[in-house]
Amino acid sequence: MTIVTNLGFPRIGPRRELKHALERHWKGEDSADTLQATARELRLRHWHLQREAGADLLPSNDFSLYDQVLDTAFLFDAIPQRYRALAESDPLGAYFAMARGRQTDGVDLRALEMTKWFDTNYHYLVPELQAGQRFALRGDKPVAEFLEAKAAGFNTRPVLLGPVSFLHLSKTVDGSDRFALLDGLLPAYAALLSHLHAAGAEWVQIDEPILTLDLTTQVQDALREAYARLAQATRPKLMLSTYFGALGDNLVLAAELPVDGLHVDLVRAPEQLDAVLQALPAGRVLSAGLVNGRNVWRTNLDNALTLARYAQGQLGADRLWLAPSCSLLHVPVDLDQEKTLDEEVKPWLSFARQKLGELRLLANALDGAPDADAGLAEQRAHLESRRQSPRVHRPEVAQRVARLTPQDSRRQSPYPQRRRVQEAAFDLPVYPTTTIGSFPQTQDVRQARARHKSGKLSDAEYDAFLAAETERCVRFQEQIGLDVLVHGEYERNDMVEYFGEQLDGFVFTKLGWVQSYGSRCVKPPIIFGDVVRPAPMTVRWSQYAQSLTPRPMKGMLTGPVTVLQWSFVRDDQARSATCRQIALALRDEVTDLEAAGIGIIQIDEPAIREGLPLRRGEWATYLDWAVEAFRICASGVGDATQIHTHMCYSEFNDIIDAVAAMDADVISIETSRSRMELLDAFVRFAYPNEIGPGVYDIHSPRIPSTAEMVDLLRKARAVLRDAQLWVNPDCGLKTRGWEETRHALEQMVEAARILRADLARAA
Ligand code: GLN
Ligand code: ZN
Repeated sequence: MTIVTNLGFPRIGPRRELKHALERHWKGEDSADTLQATARELRLRHWHLQREAGADLLPSNDFSLYDQVLDTAFLFDAIPQRYRALAESDPLGAYFAMARGRQTDGVDLRALEMTKWFDTNYHYLVPELQAGQRFALRGDKPVAEFLEAKAAGFNTRPVLLGPVSFLHLSKTVDGSDRFALLDGLLPAYAALLSHLHAAGAEWVQIDEPILTLDLTTQVQDALREAYARLAQATRPKLMLSTYFGALGDNLVLAAELPVDGLHVDLVRAPEQLDAVLQALPAGRVLSAGLVNGRNVWRTNLDNALTLARYAQGQLGADRLWLAPSCSLLHVPVDLDQEKTLDEEVKPWLSFARQKLGELRLLANALDGAPDADAGLAEQRAHLESRRQSPRVHRPEVAQRVARLTPQDSRRQSPYPQRRRVQEAAFDLPVYPTTTIGSFPQTQDVRQARARHKSGKLSDAEYDAFLAAETERCVRFQEQIGLDVLVHGEYERNDMVEYFGEQLDGFVFTKLGWVQSYGSRCVKPPIIFGDVVRPAPMTVRWSQYAQSLTPRPMKGMLTGPVTVLQWSFVRDDQARSATCRQIALALRDEVTDLEAAGIGIIQIDEPAIREGLPLRRGEWATYLDWAVEAFRICASGVGDATQIHTHMCYSEFNDIIDAVAAMDADVISIETSRSRMELLDAFVRFAYPNEIGPGVYDIHSPRIPSTAEMVDLLRKARAVLRDAQLWVNPDCGLKTRGWEETRHALEQMVEAARILRADLARAA
């Protein structure tokens, strides 16, 4: 019987139970015990659900209260000094302080940095390490969760982040070499493995996703050393798991490591199967990732079956296990919960629970089960209906894309010329202040939206509500003295969903939540067909907001790459083709805004970096089409229209040429958490246009002081021209409360004034 395994299950809960429990706990409404009880209940439900869906071997320790990388740091006692006192008295409090920062009782703790988990929209917390770092087992989360499952009748495979990937994902705060810490880390891993063995775990899934990256020989050697040492521990069998791409030049290395099984991603990289089969040593289990853990489309099981049969022919039945390509963390929980999803599109989809069902069907087909053929035939029929649908293919879109010329992705004049025209048009002070777009989405705002959606609030009432909120926001910004205003984005639920809802070619789920970080979830739109903009999407609110004030009002759009990146994208054409369609729809919006008198337009592209392929060899192609898409969208306007873009949580070193090639007049970036480190790339590159390095970390409830922001700005000033510098927060304010927003922005405006005074004094 072919075994179906799973690499990880969404932990947020089918109705975001974990999110709500976390937020109640953070607000002080629920005790730690209540939170832990909810967490336990979710784990149990998820194990039941996975087994019922057809998985034989289930994961444990894939659950996390916030993030699995943070869990790993905590587990091995990689707790930076500033949290240590708290960790002794209140471990859970320290854990959340590392995740979110903490300002209580006169103690002010900065959070760890956060960054994207490979090329996903999941964010992990970056462990802070230093030379001489000691590691030791702290607590027993993986063992406890294994035993918890066992007590409930589930024999699970604990999931661990492997030691070399852990170090790779960490940073050292003193610039020392993080891989030098491997030696000290391995005994802690070995101890954990032996505890798991003693607890009765037969297998451990040890994730080394970095094996699908370009690795230096140092890292390759670290992998060799790590697994040679772990092989000697008293331990369960190890399933070395790789995902998000091909092993490529690391295949021989991965196959040589002394483990008991290898998981490979055959969705992103089906072409590697043959080479993997050849490299796999005798006796080793192959876990074949055949169902996409990163997307929501129903699997082409005929193709998957061909690969599985081929592998089985080479390996024999007991050495081939079936699995999703990666953890199912990245897809929603259950399609069956969707009661109002577009009837035509719904049968084309598959969420976490359904994906396990697909794997079950695949296993049954492989084992020659009598009812498998009927299941495969049904699957085939759904795929066929998708292929044939006239809602997927619209000739007018294909024609417009075909008519694009290079002219369509060039502004009228180069930046220096535009700058002159814009200076005259806007009359801004030096170090202009602005925000990134959204203002607090309070309970009131969310409630009004919900009531409108459910019909309790009429269109007119909702409009009046939004108008009042927008006006209040404009007055607030005038009052605290910001230079370039925004309308506040009250009408938007989410920066992609808002646009997707107004474009053809998208559908939306009700409960298709996917964890982004901690308690934050996103509900990615599903792009199923050609993209068309039937009508303007943002003009009305921007125009209204501008009518309230003489100060420039910035129009606010989500860029084509971000729309693509944060959606589930159709898999029946190249991503670049879908992106270009979105860019054309947005280009029309930009020119409509300009025509409506909006002189400054921000096209947010916070996701451009995360779209970067994991392998360097594929970067240039991606960046070419991504930059082109942005430019298509930005280039329909005249020189006087100032185009801004915004990017956050991005590491810019690798893409700085492309960022410059986007040729936005102004870019705002995330920098405050990393103390302006991110600015390095811009400085080294001599970034030519204007730039607003974020001075206020809006991802944490912590309010920075004026002095702190002045300090950051002086750091920026030391390396950028005065005329280049803007003053703004790291990102939008929608998750913040009004009180903290007021304080932080007042202090930010004050910081800009102090800087202007510096300048006046110098002159
Ligand atoms: N304009 C958006 C906002 O302010 C940008 C959000 C983002 O960068 N993620 O919310
Ligand atoms: Zn942002």
